[in-house]
Amino acid sequence: MIQNDTIVAPVTYPGKSAVGILRISGMNTRRIAREILGKIPKPRFATYAKFLNKNKTILDQGISLWFPAPFSFTGEDVLELQGHGNPLIMDLLIKRILSIKNTRLAKPGEFCERAFLNGKIDLVQAEAIDDLINSETESMVKGSLNSLEGNFSCYITNLVEILNTFRVNIESSIDFSEEEINFHCDDIVNNNFQKLNDQFLNIKKIIKNKSIIRESKKIIIIGPPNAGKSSLLNILSSRNRAIVTNIPGTTRDLLYESINIDGFLCEIIDTAGLHDTDNEIEKMGINRALEIVKTCDHILFVIDKTIDIASQKKISSDFIKKINLCNSGIRITFILNKNDLLKDSFGIKKIEDFYFISISALTGQGLDVLKKHLIKVEKNKEKEGLFIARRRHVHQIDLSYREFLKAKKTWVKYKNIELLAESLSLMNKLLGEIIGSFSSNDLLNRIFSTFCIGK
Ligand code: GDP
Repeated sequence: MIQNDTIVAPVTYPGKSAVGILRISGMNTRRIAREILGKIPKPRFATYAKFLNKNKTILDQGISLWFPAPFSFTGEDVLELQGHGNPLIMDLLIKRILSIKNTRLAKPGEFCERAFLNGKIDLVQAEAIDDLINSETESMVKGSLNSLEGNFSCYITNLVEILNTFRVNIESSIDFSEEEINFHCDDIVNNNFQKLNDQFLNIKKIIKNKSIIRESKKIIIIGPPNAGKSSLLNILSSRNRAIVTNIPGTTRDLLYESINIDGFLCEIIDTAGLHDTDNEIEKMGINRALEIVKTCDHILFVIDKTIDIASQKKISSDFIKKINLCNSGIRITFILNKNDLLKDSFGIKKIEDFYFISISALTGQGLDVLKKHLIKVEKNKEKEGLFIARRRHVHQIDLSYREFLKAKKTWVKYKNIELLAESLSLMNKLLGEIIGSFSSNDLLNRIFSTFCIGK
């Protein structure tokens, strides 16, 4: 994809340093090289050069590197100028370059974006470059490098390949009659379902065990009104972030708070109480909460422990059913709140696969147990990650797997090739958004705008 304008930006950190590097990419780069250097340097060789002003006076001198298209990072003509790391000199050089027609300053992440748009890297690799620059631990550096090598993308590409073969197999059968479908397709479909299922589960397992999620963990507080959700958010964040009243429905939308639990950074989300309501605003809040649950790592489901045990059991089992319906692997901890009003002991219990922690969000009793539990379960251990996964990758895989399960059910019920083809195409799109074979401008803006200038 050819971009009309040529972009320029400093690649090195602003401030005084021994060397300052500028990168220029685009159609005009050859002309810029001729004007600034008086010649086109030998491709991919370090060439000593004087960097010239319009009137041929010397602005600076240093090394020039010339990468003609398509053999460059962006896939376009690229020139790198390594001069003296004085911000004043860099500014003068940039001004000089900008005085040449169709040249402008690069936006954050624009070099990476061009590399992606020109097919030099996929979206996961572009994100890995940003992750690499921002890695804070050695294992994150290793994980980012592995992602950059394409180690994560290849799992997705394999899955998409299975999907595409499946699509070709069944789309050629669309004109078959119902009986023929029963004879010809059932085996093919079931065989492919099995392959897809295996590959999905394999990727999910790898993500769970071998990936490092870069973003902070998302913990959502959910539960019936008046159970003490907002009180819990306030006490966890040590400030009065949410309004606490005994009037049900006070929290109507989502409240986000970044908190630090003994060095473990996470994002806590307080939600509207889950209950049947006719109030439209409350209803919207509840629906948004249920929607956002799917993107979280951990649910703290708050129950008022002073209500009778049968109701507590019903509330918790109804919720587990609801979450299972969504088929998510999100962890749930049940918080039995208002324990200060009872004579029960504080602490943690495990019943089947679930933890129940008795606390008082009013007095803070039991909170240390909850914090320890969250750190134990959620804190990224210094594990050797095979690669860095971003939350958006995990989310797209979950959405695609959900569509897969839906497609399986629909096939058993209707044996309809068109419906199956539609689902496979949607799965293909959802997975394609991970590596960028399907990408909207909005998605690209969201990703690249968080990069630094010069990347
Ligand atoms: P939410 O609707 O679930 O967000 O509940 P709130 O946090 O607004 O609390 C509802 C009411 O319960 C308020 O009057 C709180 O003061 C009270 N409350 C919350 N947590 C506790 C607790 O641990 N013990 C006692 N005694 N009261 C609590």
